[in-house]
Amino acid sequence: MKVPTPGPGQVLIRVHACAVCRTDLHVVDGDLTEPKLPLVPGHEIVGSVATLGPGVDRFAVGDRVGVPWLGWTCGECEFCRSNHENLCAQARFTGYQIDGGYGEFTVADQRFCFAIPATYSDIEAAPLLCAGLIGYRSLRMTGDARRLGLYGFGAAAHIIAQVARWQGRRVYAFTSPGDTDAQAFARELGVVWAGGSDQPPPELLDAAIVFAPVGSLVPTALRAVERGGTVVCAGIHMSPIPSFPHDILWGERVVRSVANLTRADGEAFFALAPKVPVKTRALPYGLEQANQALDDLRAGRLQGAAVLVA
Ligand SMILES: [Zn+2]
Ligand SMILES: [Zn+2]
Repeated sequence: MKVPTPGPGQVLIRVHACAVCRTDLHVVDGDLTEPKLPLVPGHEIVGSVATLGPGVDRFAVGDRVGVPWLGWTCGECEFCRSNHENLCAQARFTGYQIDGGYGEFTVADQRFCFAIPATYSDIEAAPLLCAGLIGYRSLRMTGDARRLGLYGFGAAAHIIAQVARWQGRRVYAFTSPGDTDAQAFARELGVVWAGGSDQPPPELLDAAIVFAPVGSLVPTALRAVERGGTVVCAGIHMSPIPSFPHDILWGERVVRSVANLTRADGEAFFALAPKVPVKTRALPYGLEQANQALDDLRAGRLQGAAVLVA
């Protein structure tokens, strides 16, 4: 691999670990249609700064940094200037429009890198960079919901269940029907109920987050939430949402999406995670096993987060 050269304001990073996200699947499968080509995927990167581009002042050589999905924003549009840089129309994303972390080296804009809490190893920290912090943004969108449903119990849900529980919420985990391994994993993490997404929860919920990329779960989740409840669609891509009767939306129920992250989300989440403390279940793969990791994710074989280790 050719080692990239950091431009102004960029750092060259020696990649230590890069977690595998469902968005990577959407990119390689062509569900997301505007990748740079050729592309190095991967947007949950932990590594150490190897060299500094001109003008870098936030980091020194040797510092450990994390690189998330949000890789660059314009800084000038109405969204960037109102704490909604996640919605910047010119934003560029790591492992999509910027080469990412499925490699030995990558470059990143210093302004979009995070310091990583010292209590986490590289491999434990990597899943925090998307599953953790976009999951956390999704959790914030549920407000003070006490009874919280999580549809799809993968990398994001296994982190967010821990945060929600620590906040005093009751968590209900919905897995693929019959996936008793994932249900057992959810119970280990302290959810009060785990079952298939074809089952109703034992009581109505105040909010639900749909992590699975399955549009038919939106009306399913609406049926599971109480009046005034919110259903958050957390993924970047979802199969079509089927039509549904108005009465399951009635009662001021809300359906909303979550898009990307802001740097403030990352700072807030990295301050919070060690307090919970969030423990990630990282499943290590060698860099040359990236396709195997993607296949295992696609097939639903992972209890936790796949992480490529350089
Ligand atoms: Zn902007
Ligand atoms: Zn991601």
